[in-house]
Amino acid sequence: MTERPAETAPAGHPAAPAEPLVRAAGLTKRYTVRTRAGRRALTAVDRVDLAVGAGRIVAVVGESGCGKSTTGRLLLALERPSEGTVTVGGRDVNRLGTRELRLLRRDIQPVFQDPYDSLNGRMTVARILSEPARVHGITQGGPGGARTVAELLDLVGLGSAYAERHPHELSGGQRQRVAIARALALDPTFVVCDEAVSALDVSVQAQVINLLSRLQRELGLAYLFISHDLALVRYLAHETAVMYLGRVVEQGPTETLFADPRHPYTQLLLAAVPRARARREDRRRAVAAAGDLPSPLERPTGCVFQARCPLATDRCRTEEPALRKVGAGGRGAACHYAETAEAVA
Ligand code: ADP
Ligand code: MG
Repeated sequence: MTERPAETAPAGHPAAPAEPLVRAAGLTKRYTVRTRAGRRALTAVDRVDLAVGAGRIVAVVGESGCGKSTTGRLLLALERPSEGTVTVGGRDVNRLGTRELRLLRRDIQPVFQDPYDSLNGRMTVARILSEPARVHGITQGGPGGARTVAELLDLVGLGSAYAERHPHELSGGQRQRVAIARALALDPTFVVCDEAVSALDVSVQAQVINLLSRLQRELGLAYLFISHDLALVRYLAHETAVMYLGRVVEQGPTETLFADPRHPYTQLLLAAVPRARARREDRRRAVAAAGDLPSPLERPTGCVFQARCPLATDRCRTEEPALRKVGAGGRGAACHYAETAEAVA
C-alpha cells in the first residue's frame, strides 16, 4: 500500500472524533461544453461543503440541473473535482493509490434511479449479486466474506426464488430491491441514493423507502439521499442541503429547515410541496412561477438566486451571500436577509 504521510493527520493531531464519515470541502466541478458560441465552462457544482456522519441520512434537494447528481458522483469518487476535496474517513479520495481506491470502492456504493440502466439484463439476479465479490476477489459467506446471494435477497425482502430470474422478469420495485442488494454486497458504510425511488409508482416508492430506512438503521449505514421529492426527504433525512445552480443555499437539520425555511428559494420549494403530492406537474409550475432556472452557463453576479428572488435588492445583485449560521440549531442559509425575510411564498 502506498503511504502518503503528507495527507494523513500529523502525529499528535489525530482526526477529531467528530470527523464525519464523508466530507466535501469547497467541492467544485466544471465541465467544458460546446455551445453555438464555442466551448464554454459550465459550473455544475460550486464550492459545496457537505458532511455526512456515520449512520446519518443527508438529503440533497433542488430542481433538475442544480448539481445534485454531479455532487453524488464526486462523493462516490466516480469523477474528480475541479477544485476542493472529498474525504472519507479523513482521507482525500482523490489522492489514494490504485489499491486504496479499490478498497474504498467496497465502502461507498451507489443506488441510481433506473435499475434497468445499472443491472445487466443478461445476468441472473444471483450473478448480479455475486458480481461485486467477484470483481473485488472476495469469497462469499463466512467470516470476513461478502454477503451471500441468499443473505442479500433476504435483506431486501425478496425470496430465494428470485435468484434465477433476470431483471426483465421483475417489477420496477423488485429491480430496485436487487440494485439495493447489490450495493450492500460488500458491506459498505456509505450509500449514495440518486433519485433511487423516483421512477417507481407511489405505493411501491413507499415500500422501497421503508426498506432503505430499515436497512439504514439495522446496518448503521450513512446515506446521501438525492431527491427532488421534498415530502420523501422530510420523512427520511436527518439533515438536508438545498442546492441552486451548483451552490448550497440552505442546509441544516431537516425539521428545522422544513419548519422555518430561511432562504427564499427553500421557501418557494416548500410552498410547492402539497401540490407536488397531488400532481408532479403542478410542482414544476409552482416553482417556475418565480421564473425559469437560469442556465449554469450564465451564472448571475451576486446571489445565485437573485434573478428569481422576489426579495432581491441591489446588494443581492452585486454581493454574493455566504452560507452562514442563521438562528439556533445548526442551520445555515446563504441569503443577506435570512434573519428578516418573511416567507415569500
Ligand atoms: P441534477 O442531478 O441536479 O439534475 P446534474 O448534476 O446532473 O444536476 O447537472 C448539473 C449541471 O451540470 C447541468 O447543467 C448538467 O447539464 C451539467 N452536467 C452534468 N454532467 C455533465 C457532463 N458530464 N458534461 C457536461 N455537463 C454536465
Ligand atoms: Mg440528477
